[in-house]
Amino acid sequence: MKLGMLTEDLEGYDALSDKEKEEFDSYALKEAAALGVAESLTQWFDENPQGFTKDEKDHITIWNSGLSWSTDLFVSAALRGIGYHVKTMPVPDQESLRNGKEFGNRGQCNPTYFTVGNLIKHLKGLEASGLSKEEIIKNHTFLTAGACGPCRFGTYVTEYRKALRDSGFEGFRVVLFQQQGGLKQATGDEQGLELNPTFFRSLIKAFLAGDVVNLMAYRIRPYEVVPGSTNAALEQSRELVIQALEESKSVLLAMARCRRIFEAVEVNRLQPKPMVSVIGEFWAMTTEGDGNYHLQRFLEQEGAEVAIQPLVNWVLFILWEQIRDTQRRMELREDDVARKGLSGKEPWKKIAMLRAARVALVGLFKLFANTIGLRGYHLPNMDEIASLAHEHYDNELRGGEGHMEVGKLIDSVEENRAHMVISVKPFGCMPSSGVSDGVQSLISAKYPKAIFLAIETSGDGEVNVQSRVQMMMFKAHQRAQAEFEEAMETTGLDLEQAEEKLSRSWRARRTIHYPPHKLAGTAANQLLELA
Ligand code: SF4
Repeated sequence: MKLGMLTEDLEGYDALSDKEKEEFDSYALKEAAALGVAESLTQWFDENPQGFTKDEKDHITIWNSGLSWSTDLFVSAALRGIGYHVKTMPVPDQESLRNGKEFGNRGQCNPTYFTVGNLIKHLKGLEASGLSKEEIIKNHTFLTAGACGPCRFGTYVTEYRKALRDSGFEGFRVVLFQQQGGLKQATGDEQGLELNPTFFRSLIKAFLAGDVVNLMAYRIRPYEVVPGSTNAALEQSRELVIQALEESKSVLLAMARCRRIFEAVEVNRLQPKPMVSVIGEFWAMTTEGDGNYHLQRFLEQEGAEVAIQPLVNWVLFILWEQIRDTQRRMELREDDVARKGLSGKEPWKKIAMLRAARVALVGLFKLFANTIGLRGYHLPNMDEIASLAHEHYDNELRGGEGHMEVGKLIDSVEENRAHMVISVKPFGCMPSSGVSDGVQSLISAKYPKAIFLAIETSGDGEVNVQSRVQMMMFKAHQRAQAEFEEAMETTGLDLEQAEEKLSRSWRARRTIHYPPHKLAGTAANQLLELA
């Protein structure tokens, strides 16, 4: 047995004299023998096969999933556009959850079960379609984002390994790119998946396209005159964007074409509807399936306009974290040599680059948004969100959404951005339990105007969650109606006069037009604008 494994990491071991080390080693050996582990004690090491080689690239199919449906489709298309064989896995459902629970560790958070189980379910499906396990392991991989951090997101890759092993797919490769790693994630010359500027540019294009297409649809659908017309436009738009990404053609041109498609949807925005902002844990608020009981669709069925969180917010938050951490490190007495330490680096240069990345990202988002017709969309200022939240949730606390969820709720009340805020809190989520159930109760008490609801997504509580949402929606409907009536009083316009004015305003009638934000409800804003 190698004693070094037992002793070398022990604090203070190196400071012992040779004689003391000898005594210590002999004692440790004796104890190990008494426990019967002397022969078998070896450090556990997870093989964790992740990559594939350039030679394999042509026959490897990369599967992708985990974001909104539009974004998943666009990511696959963007990577196909740079030479990979990429396909999109279906949105995780109850069957995925069952697989996750069967093959995952006990006590995981719900998104882990859903996402890990979705891969297992999918691989089983491939096997059922006639592929052997060997073929699946040899010719297929799964691409996902990884992270380091205090919550379970940092251990997803290990969960994938366990579930794959226990379900008979040991050796199946989960290809991971670190969401905070950027271009530093050097890949060897032989690696089939190259995490180079082309890869990240393609991802950013897919993310931005996914965001603006989704935001357009969520803005238009609640006010469509012909039911189903927005979804039809969304489908057509997705196809255009997929084609542009696959063929490496201009995505902006595709956006301009999507704009014409969306413009053909007829809308009536003079219907007072509660604006419901969906925040919470990243995956649970983003998925559009069983993982959050189809929350967005349910809210729209209940008469809401849903304010979703675009992926770009998450990227802005990551940039904010990096700028903040670098600034804090600069306050240390001397530069530290840790992995992210500043020793031998130029911190100002790093901050300048991160800020430039932020400006570029916001600029690109605006370009995509303006081209597709998503006018006046407000991206949160992460410094403001951090300072709003700081009093209640320390900015140094990370994991999950960090302070962002708290800041977003306060911002939404103070700036009148929504009538109601729902926080999606996955069962077993560590950060969400502290925020949605804990700190947000304080914020709701401090801002009595807030209609706030935290819902827990355990996978088996759909009716319970929906009934709680319905009860809160009753209040939100009343709030939206009252706001609309107040706007009528202020402007002196009744509904008939407003409709008459609208029929005469080509600009205000346009589908891609969005009245400037003053109040939470779109109908009330439309009325103010008409007046
Ligand atoms: S934030 Fe919560 S739900 Fe999401 S990965 Fe971490 S622990 Fe799981």
